[in-house]
Amino acid sequence: EKTPVTLLGLGAMGTALARTWLAAGHQVTVWNRTPARATALAAEGAAAADSAAEAVAANALVVVCLLNDTAVDEVLAGADLAGRDLVNLTTSTPAQARARAEWARERGARYLDGGIMAVPPMIGVPEAGGYVFYSGSSELFERHQQTLGVPVGTAYVGEDAGFAALHDVALLSAMYGMFAGSAHAFALIRKEDIDPAALAVLLADWLIAMAPAVHRTADQLRSGDYTQHVVSNLAMQVAGTPTFVSTAEQQGVSPELLSPYFELMRRRLAEGSGEEDLTGVIDLLVR
Ligand code: NDP
Repeated sequence: EKTPVTLLGLGAMGTALARTWLAAGHQVTVWNRTPARATALAAEGAAAADSAAEAVAANALVVVCLLNDTAVDEVLAGADLAGRDLVNLTTSTPAQARARAEWARERGARYLDGGIMAVPPMIGVPEAGGYVFYSGSSELFERHQQTLGVPVGTAYVGEDAGFAALHDVALLSAMYGMFAGSAHAFALIRKEDIDPAALAVLLADWLIAMAPAVHRTADQLRSGDYTQHVVSNLAMQVAGTPTFVSTAEQQGVSPELLSPYFELMRRRLAEGSGEEDLTGVIDLLVR
């Protein structure tokens, strides 16, 4: 017998989630502020509730996927959550997630927070590699892992309800750093007779080749020795930074995406850390 699911929020993400549960044979009760979106899903077999409270009452497992934490407040205001297993996939900050976990506990619900590492087209497509970080009640996670894993993969990261959001933001922050570096790289060739598609092939391969360096960073953070297994030391790398700045100038490109990182490298070097890896920059960021 497949676990019935209540889903509140039928935006791009919620709709994709509902569809995969329906396709897998789960009973799905849905509710959305704008009823038209629920009507469309009802044609595919979902039960459309008239109110959020009614949808919450329908099933023990209640999944919420709304725009933001304020919307979660508004939607769940009138619902009786006692005895419910509340899974909140709405993107939030760690603090919002922790507050929501406490809020749910006060209302007699078990709580699991989620951070979705996927876009809607990856939902229901296991080979796309998407997954959701979960944190909060391990009991709830274990009970519903199979159901939660139907639309997209699952990764439980701890009892602290804020950890899913924290992992989500950490990974996406690194992604923005990668996008920033790529933007600078494309800018450098923009005025030249170089095919961006040819550069893209080289860029993707290079970024993939460099990505495993994060394991060395992690090893250094764990040991506290930032000179461990250094490949290119900080003194050498700082000495190279004028080449990057001058090249940007020569190409008519603003160095504004690179400069903040170079500035941190210089500050760390000034502390006498020339033999270290780049890991010391992390200590400068942590206030
Ligand atoms: P959409 O903008 O497509 O949908 C937003 C949903 O929130 C709709 O169901 C909307 O209802 C509802 N909503 C917004 N405000 C309120 C409110 N005040 N009261 C009641 N309902 C409200 O967003 P997505 O479905 O794409 O995203 C949902 C969550 O998933 C977000 O937290 C997002 O960060 C996260 N996410 C999305 C990804 C994506 O690529 N789409 C990727 C990873 C995470 P209505 O239909 O009535 O407007």
